[in-house]
Formats: sequence, structure tokens, C-alpha cells
Amino acid sequence: PDFSTFGLDAAILRAIVEQGYTTPTPIQQQAIPIALQGRDLMGAAQTGTGKTAGFSLPILQRLVPTQSASVSPARHPVRALILAPTRELADQVADNVATYAKHTQLRSAVVFGGVDIRPQIEALRAGVEIVIATPGRLLDHVQQKSINLSQVQILVLDEADRMLDMGFLPDLQRIVNLLPQSRQTLLFSATFSDDIKKLARSFLRDPATIEV
Ligand code: AMP
Repeated sequence: PDFSTFGLDAAILRAIVEQGYTTPTPIQQQAIPIALQGRDLMGAAQTGTGKTAGFSLPILQRLVPTQSASVSPARHPVRALILAPTRELADQVADNVATYAKHTQLRSAVVFGGVDIRPQIEALRAGVEIVIATPGRLLDHVQQKSINLSQVQILVLDEADRMLDMGFLPDLQRIVNLLPQSRQTLLFSATFSDDIKKLARSFLRDPATIEV
């Protein structure tokens, strides 16, 4: 199997080729077709399995046809939200997304705590389709009205088990309450504990489950 079988846009494929990826990893082989269908997904996957591309590539593909070439921020509502437990992971995911999106017109921004919020506000105001965030700082932006989540079509919870371990459940609930009910949700976790299953029952709709 290779990446050309997924029907990805040429701009996305070009970035994959430039990264030197030839064969999708097992999680990518399973996750990409399901996510491209718009289905909710629960994936058991550790770091190093290629899960980031597994959710990023279908997000880009689903957003490419709706992207606007306009430079007006109003024409770039946030359509995908990726939540991660730590600033390190958020940064890493954001780097990946930016790399895979570089030949598209989709824009992304990363927001996490522990740093000055003002440059993040500027980045968001410029208009981005994809936001990668840690939960607490995202809620700071919601409170400051520097982000509007009402048009989010795709939510990703990356390393959901770590987010629960870190006590982010109340923040996650607040965030999900701000999103449209009709959206796609992708959840990745190293393990499917009872708490994760419970989270999935409240946030996901009829998810496909994959384990690698
Ligand atoms: P991740 O598990 O998402 O953190 O990815 C682990 C590493 O594998 C990252 O450095 C990716 O750039 C790389 N990677 C992801 N998918 C592929 C692929 N299909 N072929 C080669 N490397 C990949």
C-alpha cells in the first residue's frame, strides 16, 4: 500500500513525498480511510506509530475543498481543533500539520500556556482553519474572545489518557460544549481505560475502533 491509494489532494501528497514517506504506517493504513469518510474514530496508539499524520492528513483533505484563498480573517473560521496534553506535544503536532499543509492554502496556529498570550492572539486574529492547543490556554482564548469555536467540524483529542491524567476533564467538557454537536471527533490514547471509554461515550458518536 502507498499514500496514493487514499485519494489525497496533490498538494498534500507532494508534502508527504517531500517528507520521504513512502509507505503508510499500520495506524495510518487503518485511520486515514475511516477519518476521510467523516466517521468518528477511537485509536489506540503510542507516540512513534505515525498517529499524527494518521489524523492530520485526513483533516487537511477534508478541509482543502472548503479553504478560502481570501486573506480576510473572517473567511478563515477555525474548522479543526486538535487538543494535546502538553506544550511539547502541541508544538510537535503543529509542526507536523504545518509541514503537511505547506502546499495547501490552509493555515494553522498553535496555542499553549506558559508563554505570552499576545502573539497567539495575533496569530488567531490573522485567520486559521486549524488550531492545535492545550486545553487550559484554549479556554483563556475563548474567554478573551480571540477564538470562535462555533464552526469547528473536526475535533481531535491526542493522548487523551494523558489529558485525563493531568486533570483536564473539566476543561475538555467545557470546550466540547462550545463545539457544534454535528462534528467529527477523533480520539487517540495509549490505552482504552474505563475512563477513556467513558469519555468516548460522551464525546464520540458510533466510533470505529482501531488498535495497532
Ligand atoms: P508520530 O507517532 O506521529 O509522532 O510519528 C513518529 C515519526 O514518524 C515522526 O517523525 C513522523 O515524521 C514519522 N512518520 C510518520 N508517518 C510516517 C511514514 N508513513 N513513513 C515514514 N515516517 C513517518
